[in-house]
This record gives sequence, C-alpha cells and structure tokens, in this order.
Amino acid sequence: MAAKLKPGAELYRATLEKWGEEAQYDQAVEECAELIACLKHFKRNKVGDDRIVDELADVTLMVGQLTWMFGPDRVEQAIERKLEKLRNLLDEPVLDEYPLSKEEEET
Ligand SMILES: [Mg+2]
Repeated sequence: MAAKLKPGAELYRATLEKWGEEAQYDQAVEECAELIACLKHFKRNKVGDDRIVDELADVTLMVGQLTWMFGPDRVEQAIERKLEKLRNLLDEPVLDEYPLSKEEEET
C-alpha cells in the first residue's frame, strides 16, 4: 500500500515524477475544460452545484501543481500585480459595459 502523501511539494514532485511534465499540462487543460462545460450546464440547470464544487477541486489541484512547477514565488508576485490592478479598476467609475455601435447610435 502506497504511503499517504502530504499535500504540497512532496505530492506535486511525486506526481510530476510519475506522469511527467507534458501530462500535467494536458491534465490542467482537461480539468479547465471540464469546469467550463460544467458551468455552462449549471447555467442551464443541467447539473447541480455539487458538480461545480467537484470540478473546482480538480482545477484547484492542477493550479497547485502548475504553480509548484513554475514557481510559487513568481505566481505570488503575479497575483499581487493583478490584485493591485483590480484595486485600481475598482476605484474607477463604471463605464458602459456594451457601448452602442455606430449603427445602433444612428437608429
Ligand atoms: Mg474534472
């Protein structure tokens, strides 16, 4: 029986070693696609929110794997930059979300 792996670097290292780098990229793409499809189905009441939670868990695990592979510090710095941008956007006035086209303005 395999030893239970602790979450974090040890688990990510073992996963990468067993299946390789390319498989991690493919798995991340697949899990994101499943979440996308599930959200579309949820909007049409075809699946319950338990399915969303399940797919979010899959994507979260893959984000953890890729973050570990690309460097947690780098990802953390990028998150900080994006949060700062978001804070600045929240301070700006809201503009029309869908500005009228020229044809719509003329009618
Ligand atoms: Mg999935």
